[in-house]
Amino acid sequence: MGILYDNLIQGYDSAHDTDGISGERLAKRLDAISEIGLTENNGSHRPGFSKEEKAAKELVSKWMREAGLEVRQDGAGNIFGRLAGKKNDLPAILSGSHLDSVPNGGHFDGVLGVLSALEVAEAWRESGYQPEKPYEVVVFSDEEGARFNGGLHGSEAVVGKGDIEEKLKLIDQDGMNFSEVLEDIGLSVDSYLGAKRDPEEIEMFAEVHIEQGKQLEREALPSGIVTGIAGPCWLEFTFTGEAGHAGNTPMNDRKDALVAASAFIGGVNELPASISDSAVATVGKMQVDPNGVNVIPGSVTLYVDIRDIFEETRDKLVDQVLALAEKIAAKHQISVNHVEKMRVSPVPIKEEKQQLLEASCHEANIRPYRLPSGAGHDAMIIGEKWPVAMLFTQSKDGISHNPAEWSDLNDCVQTVHVLKNFLEKMQE
Ligand SMILES: [Zn+2]
Repeated sequence: MGILYDNLIQGYDSAHDTDGISGERLAKRLDAISEIGLTENNGSHRPGFSKEEKAAKELVSKWMREAGLEVRQDGAGNIFGRLAGKKNDLPAILSGSHLDSVPNGGHFDGVLGVLSALEVAEAWRESGYQPEKPYEVVVFSDEEGARFNGGLHGSEAVVGKGDIEEKLKLIDQDGMNFSEVLEDIGLSVDSYLGAKRDPEEIEMFAEVHIEQGKQLEREALPSGIVTGIAGPCWLEFTFTGEAGHAGNTPMNDRKDALVAASAFIGGVNELPASISDSAVATVGKMQVDPNGVNVIPGSVTLYVDIRDIFEETRDKLVDQVLALAEKIAAKHQISVNHVEKMRVSPVPIKEEKQQLLEASCHEANIRPYRLPSGAGHDAMIIGEKWPVAMLFTQSKDGISHNPAEWSDLNDCVQTVHVLKNFLEKMQE
């Protein structure tokens, strides 16, 4: 076992090992997945549709089979491990998350949700419990979007969402298009389109995820009940000026795209405060062209990520960002155009599901605490077609998408108990 296992098991209180749930098994599995795509900085590198993501899926599939689940992969590379229900014709209850990561990411984001769902199946097996309804542990492909600047491709395939023509235009950093990337791991565009599931096959989806914020840590709680998921909007802007020699072009005769883009980035940072307490906007990626030390930047392409848990305020912020880009381009006498890469509606979570989660927290001796999700998750996509529920596990210092991402094993296992209680309540 590796360092992750040692750090997890240290300080673990085995009093949480009840009803067939095992902290040691969960820690060993988190450790084993962390070894796949492990970076020099002890981070995770498993981009969507990569050989590392595939290897992680294969390992989880093996565990699923050992737990008595019937495993299948769909045409988008999503993995489903199914436990038959006593009434096996009923729609299935799904739980899981993703195994891909951002470049040099952490070891809990996504993985914890998959392994928590699997741990419930293990616990049921050990206690001889068979649910009334079929139960499927699911691994969604390419959630993070590290590959194509836009993720959630696995859950979108299940929902049948998204414009395939747009997806076919996607090119990754190695110059491979969407179709080639799928073919590289034995899938195809046709198989991807065939992954769509009928509404009547699924009753609901429950996802455990690390909080990626500090609220639960502040409240000293292992888990929290998610009230809704903020919908992101991604905009790509290209500012086009004129490239020129840095030495021979006077300051008053320049159309410097980077100077304009810089003013825009500063402006974007100031907009959310005037919109709502939960609104956020971020520029996290930029390309400068020609990108030479002695060349005035001719064009700059950058991406703005805009979110809020309310659709109205989120869309208002999007409009203000667009207006700001026009205003700054005009001021700097350069041109700007934009492409909307993604706009997902925020997903509210039904009160009835939140109440079941509250009762499940009480049973696990956890004070119920409700909080919104600022980050997008597979549950956000699945929530467009089926009811969803979501549980957060406390994240140390709120750090995520970073090798320092950490959740205490005691908190992880207590969250599995809440999930298990909830899934059992869903059988009634
Ligand atoms: Zn995630």
